[in-house]
Amino acid sequence: MSDVRPVSLSQLLLRKVLAVRDAFGRDISYLRLSVTRRCGFSCIYCADRDCPGSLAEELSLPEILKIAEVLSGMGITKVRLTGGEPLMRRDITEICRGIRDLPGVRTLALTTNGFRLAETARELREAGVSRINISIDTRNPAVFAQITGVPGAEAALSGIEAALSAGFAKVKINAVLLKGLNDDAASIRDLAELSLRYPLDVRFIELMPAGGTACCKGEYFTSGAAVLRALPELREDPEEPVSGVARLYRLPGALGRIGIIAPVTRRFCGGCNRIRVTADGMLRPCLLSDREYRLRGLSAAEIRETVTKALAMKPGEHGISQDGDDDHIRIRMQRIGG
Ligand code: SAM
Ligand code: SF4
Repeated sequence: MSDVRPVSLSQLLLRKVLAVRDAFGRDISYLRLSVTRRCGFSCIYCADRDCPGSLAEELSLPEILKIAEVLSGMGITKVRLTGGEPLMRRDITEICRGIRDLPGVRTLALTTNGFRLAETARELREAGVSRINISIDTRNPAVFAQITGVPGAEAALSGIEAALSAGFAKVKINAVLLKGLNDDAASIRDLAELSLRYPLDVRFIELMPAGGTACCKGEYFTSGAAVLRALPELREDPEEPVSGVARLYRLPGALGRIGIIAPVTRRFCGGCNRIRVTADGMLRPCLLSDREYRLRGLSAAEIRETVTKALAMKPGEHGISQDGDDDHIRIRMQRIGG
């Protein structure tokens, strides 16, 4: 059964009229909404050590709902809550319910480090979240602590079981590939084999320049091809070889799938349908460009006007490549939400 809320023909037509398109003809329908910059983890590839975020700067519940309502009226149909760690917000279930109830929103998703998921999974599901991504780079407790700064492997792994039994329509594991930490064949296989036991996707993501890490020329970068080398028996998923930003594969006999997300070696900007709003209410047309537009404090009409202006400036593609010089690029991932 689909987890996407059905729409009537008249709603579909109205949405076609309202839909926002950028200067390259891409229809924008997916909002990644960061609800906090705070996070109990300090992952080496993400954490903003000098600027960890505070409660005071965060959009309030009414501010979040106002922005989400205006954007849903402009053609946004999918919202993903992210951060920082979204489960740090005490009002996270109210945020979920409010967004779920917006008539234009058909899919509500959330990305978490999983640390508090075991205790909150059911509540989130009841509040309307249908898809959940859990970030777990390794099942090895010592390496997990080395990457995240927290001895939390066991808690995060129990979040997987909790998510599966809470009945989310889609559960995905996100792992950032890190040279020398989790990119050897045994580590990749160990994570990938979760898809043998559980009906979930394990997605390996190429490192982007954020936190304390540089990208391609930095010490940790590994290409997504490492996954194909580690798992020679992988076969392209016959039903859905590409989904969103991921190329999908299957291990023989697996319940779930393996995804490779390669923003560096296989850029997917041409099909980008996303915009982002940061925890302090700045609209970002592109993850990898510093251009931002303030939405906080604006009226609905002003928000619409700002979104239209911002989309005209959404770049055609980002500037990171394996051969390029990306030393000057450093995304504030913890603030933007990935
Ligand atoms: N705290 C939550 C979590 O860890 O899932 C949500 C926020 S986190 C910024 C969102 C996603 O961005 C995670 O899947 C994380 O692995 C990914 N991410 C963070 N920094 C990254 C980087 N430098 N390169 C690629 N992905 C990154
Ligand atoms: Fe926190 Fe998620 Fe960033 Fe790790 S990836 S520091 S858990 S926001």
